[in-house]
Amino acid sequence: MISTDSRGLMLDEPLLFEQSQPGRIGYSLPDADVPPALPDIELLRDEITDFPELSEVDVIRHYTRLSTWNYGVDSGFYPLGSCTMKYNPKVNEVAARLPGFAEIHPQTPEALNQGALELMYRLERALAEVSGFPAICLQPAAGAQGELAGMLMIRAWHEARGNQRTKVIIPDTAHGTNPATSALCGYEVVPVTSTGILSLDAVAAVMSDEVAALMITNPNTLGLFEANIRAICELVHEQGGLVYCDGANLNALMGISRPGDLGIDVMHFNLHKTFSTPHGGGGPGAGPVGIAEKLIPFLPLPVITKEGDSYHFDYQRPQSIGRVKSFYGHFGILVRAYSYILAMGGEGLKKATELAVLNANYIRARLEGAYALPYKERSLHEVVFSEEKLGGGCHTLDVAKRLIDYGFHPPTIYFPLVVAGALMIEPTETESKQMIDDFCDAMLAIAAEARQDPDTLKQAPTRARRRRLDEATAARKPKLRWRSE
Ligand SMILES: *Cc1c(COP(=O)(O)O)cnc(C)c1O
Repeated sequence: MISTDSRGLMLDEPLLFEQSQPGRIGYSLPDADVPPALPDIELLRDEITDFPELSEVDVIRHYTRLSTWNYGVDSGFYPLGSCTMKYNPKVNEVAARLPGFAEIHPQTPEALNQGALELMYRLERALAEVSGFPAICLQPAAGAQGELAGMLMIRAWHEARGNQRTKVIIPDTAHGTNPATSALCGYEVVPVTSTGILSLDAVAAVMSDEVAALMITNPNTLGLFEANIRAICELVHEQGGLVYCDGANLNALMGISRPGDLGIDVMHFNLHKTFSTPHGGGGPGAGPVGIAEKLIPFLPLPVITKEGDSYHFDYQRPQSIGRVKSFYGHFGILVRAYSYILAMGGEGLKKATELAVLNANYIRARLEGAYALPYKERSLHEVVFSEEKLGGGCHTLDVAKRLIDYGFHPPTIYFPLVVAGALMIEPTETESKQMIDDFCDAMLAIAAEARQDPDTLKQAPTRARRRRLDEATAARKPKLRWRSE
């Protein structure tokens, strides 16, 4: 039933439904020495047809085998750009599992939770130091929620001044969460075209007294530093607007440049990108926000304060935008991030940035002969190629699928949208030169295959458990439930 190849490796794994054997059960209880007491018949559920019948060991082996199919940053190089899949040192996991942190109940009274409050307070101070913002809120559960909290504070600031505005300027290189956040906050999005980086003239052309904010990512999603950022902030401020920075790419700045010093008013951090906490299937992550002085009255509730040697939650803040997350955010992620920052130290964080930038530029130098580079400026922590130079009618998707045959997770593809057939590669600081060379060798071999043997690319992946999926049929005629036929 379970197919294997000649080396005994599993090639496929049937569903639990397909493995079902009539009469098998997961556990048995000893005979009761008291008469059975049946529950109210009304409460009994109907017979479930086709419910899998399996032993405990069948189920354990099924899930254990499936778990070995996962490709994760602990099993191989993971060059997704914009997502920053960097290795998370295990010492941070040990810290997060300390019983005093892991078993704390969120409703424990403040007086008994002092260690947890102190950790959050210190993490806020550390993030303030890294970013140059005077105040930090740790609550948001992800970057996208940090954006929402930040933009709600911007809206509250304008409202408090009796000056409600209606528009937000967003460059065309932005991540989709930026316009989504602006729309959620009730703003009309004004797109602005950039030529690699955003020019002051492009912002001046759309800036007006109707604009509440500019949302900008620095370095942007092309991996380029927004060199006009100071002048752009000044221009937006002169006309009464604020500047939001999407901090997802802080990996390229940490320890070197502080967004708060550049004139930014609000920025979110993605702790699961920059501060080495796990990305897990959409969560949990953490997206703290850093804010300028003038936004402090609007911080989400509660705010952690320190009086003498004790820590408190302050709920007495009449202008607050309110709570953005139940309790205090994803505390376990905060412990990991704090542990990472302490382990690295200021010099270590700076070194991480330098290595991330060096690694991306090394990849760029090795691949730019074989892959087209639409923007020639020096890259920061990620590099974006296009499909333009690929031979044999091959596309970005073919390169991505072929990389799977070479044992690598594909990079981010078709993002940012301003590059046709984008291949966005972010090696991160945690990879060795040897690993990066292996990856570049694979990319160069694939570019050569595209010219000489394009069919191999178009058929890829050939060595994976699943071949290329028919995504159109899967989307149009989805099979969402197993049925016995
Ligand atoms: C990842 C990312 C986001 C969203 O962050 P999440 O933590 O996934 O919600 C926003 N902008 C950019 C540029 C990103 O890379």
